[in-house]
Amino acid sequence: MTFNTIPLTRIAASLAKAMDIKPPAQADAPLPQIETFVKDHCISGKAERMLIYNPDAIGQWLIQKYTDDFAPVMRHTQLAIPFLTAFPPVTPVCFATMYTGAAPEIHGIRKYEKPVVKTDSLFDAFVRAGKRVALSAITGSSMGIIWSGKDIDYFLEKDGEAATARALELLDEDQYDVIVVYTMEYDDNIHATHPESPVSHASMVRHNQQFAELAEKTTSAWKQYDTLLVYATDHGIHKTIFGTGNHYADIPEDMNVTEFFGIQPAEK
Ligand SMILES: [Zn+2]
Repeated sequence: MTFNTIPLTRIAASLAKAMDIKPPAQADAPLPQIETFVKDHCISGKAERMLIYNPDAIGQWLIQKYTDDFAPVMRHTQLAIPFLTAFPPVTPVCFATMYTGAAPEIHGIRKYEKPVVKTDSLFDAFVRAGKRVALSAITGSSMGIIWSGKDIDYFLEKDGEAATARALELLDEDQYDVIVVYTMEYDDNIHATHPESPVSHASMVRHNQQFAELAEKTTSAWKQYDTLLVYATDHGIHKTIFGTGNHYADIPEDMNVTEFFGIQPAEK
């Protein structure tokens, strides 16, 4: 297995550019293929709304091995790009990298710890551009902690089911331009069992369904807007010699992720 080559640092500016707003201050360059994709598919030429679904630890090899289980994600997206996540491949390091567009030595999270990130992020970029942002995450999770204190609305729920349900409600209420949803049951279960146990597999399937439910909801709730749907995980996973699942190593199983992008053109 070989390593992916496009660093995860390139997502933040790509998403900012998709909405035609200024990227986070220290973000790596946007990807031209995302820019072209957005221009080609949006009626207005840019994404007017954005839904980002962040399931934890859905490594790229899961997509290769359980491809059929990703059909619900593929149904609502038209572009998939392989990325190399940040090292070490642990949750706060990778999500800090994804949302700042900067490497760990810049944003400062270099190991498993959950400080509030001070480096300029996509959340700050959205707020500066006047976008109304909701973050629906899980209480005590990295995503629920490291972006604290911004001018966005936080909805911290007990689990991924509740975080998804909340986001579905928020879509119906139509008060936000950007909704970010974080779920972590797959990651919880791989640590408790291993990456391919029945309970882990069921969580992976469930995460893909959650994304599809959210995407489906945008087809009615955000019908009049050019909408960008993003399915972006933080890192992969492997089975250790102890028989349980984990992620921390500089190996393709932990470092390779594939992120999905979908455009729902406005019905104007
Ligand atoms: Zn994670």
